Amino acid sequence: MPGTIRTTSPYPMLSVAEATREILSRVEPLPPVRLDFRTVAGLVLAEDVLADDDLPPTRRAGVDGYAVVARPGPLRLRVVGEVTAGNASSVTVEPDTAVRIMTGGVLPHGADAVVMFEDTGGEQDGYVEVVRPPRLGDHIQAAGVDARSGQVVLRAGQQLHSPEIGMLAAVGHTAVSVHPRPRVAVLATGDEVVAPDGTPPPGFVRDSNQYALIAAAEEAGGQVVWSGHCVDDPARLRVAVEAALGVADVLITSGGVSMGTRDLLKPLLADLGEIHFGRVAFKPGKPLTFATVQRTAVFALPGFPVSSLVTFEVFVRPALRRLQGLTRLHRPRVTVELEHPIEASRYRLEYQRAVVRWQYGRLIGTATGRQASSRLLNMIGANALLEIPSGGEILPAGARVTALLTGEIEDAPAQG
Ligand code: AMP
Ligand code: MG
Repeated sequence: MPGTIRTTSPYPMLSVAEATREILSRVEPLPPVRLDFRTVAGLVLAEDVLADDDLPPTRRAGVDGYAVVARPGPLRLRVVGEVTAGNASSVTVEPDTAVRIMTGGVLPHGADAVVMFEDTGGEQDGYVEVVRPPRLGDHIQAAGVDARSGQVVLRAGQQLHSPEIGMLAAVGHTAVSVHPRPRVAVLATGDEVVAPDGTPPPGFVRDSNQYALIAAAEEAGGQVVWSGHCVDDPARLRVAVEAALGVADVLITSGGVSMGTRDLLKPLLADLGEIHFGRVAFKPGKPLTFATVQRTAVFALPGFPVSSLVTFEVFVRPALRRLQGLTRLHRPRVTVELEHPIEASRYRLEYQRAVVRWQYGRLIGTATGRQASSRLLNMIGANALLEIPSGGEILPAGARVTALLTGEIEDAPAQG
């Protein structure tokens, strides 16, 4: 037991903005790795990608029809061959001949236009009647219309979604340099915290944070490589934290950062590395602590389930995104109208869990009931965090507040 019990924190209180700045100034995109393009969806490109050839590489037919020499008509042309996509023809088209050609087929020599099937009177006895004679270049895709050989088709910094994955395949760039997913370790702490299986004895709680934070880290693009639980014992905590630090770019802990006699994380992190802040004017989650130990960023989150997930959302998620090389780090911010009055916290900016919906042209925010930080239920089904400024006043129904959208919204049809 300690000889003296502190009643005031030695850590200065940072604003949410200051804490965010501090975190983001200390993390940077992870060094690139080269991966197979089939495995990189959602990652961020670390190189420019160039077209290796013209796309398409040759002149192609844009429709199904006949490759011809453009001239005034009507025309009656002898059909001298067929080109299907992937099967070129060596026949040369003359003014009085045509080659049947399918969309994507390589245009045969001599041809300078394609007539659609629909613009012919049909083919009979080896001849086709062209009803609407073509103009030069009709229905031909020139080589390189989609991209030129050597053209930059994807830039470093681009996040790889479906079109980008398609482009990598289209230009044959199958080994691609990307920022990797950050390796994340999750450590739940607390003497009272037990595995979720079975019934906890009185005074114990099931470990929900470990599993919620694993899911949150993976949703944010992290790769959880280590997780566990440790009791509030300085020696055992040190062993667990060191094990986690050894394998991770980011360590996320829960519990053990408040003012209690069993809150051991701050002194341990101060000893192992450097604490950059240990308090934020933020509700829920004032004791949030951010440290670095060598190259690992450590987020020591408070133990209450809502505090740990909301501090994750607001402070850890943007850091995980920066490590991945993403430049858009933050959730969309919108202004919403409160459906009901909300009493602001006196001293701290509060993030209330809420459901935001679009109703007849307005965004309406409804808090999810009692906002206690132990009550995980107030996060279930929420799709937003309402930013309620400190000051202690009561915001009336209809007041406009900022909301961070954490999920999709429901839509009511426009009026009328
Ligand atoms: P602490 O921040 O360590 O003081 O923890 C505050 C409270 O959060 C504890 O009294 C528990 O009720 C709860 N808590 C701590 N760790 C967990 C956990 N891993 N899972 C669920 N609840 C937890
Ligand atoms: Mg604890």
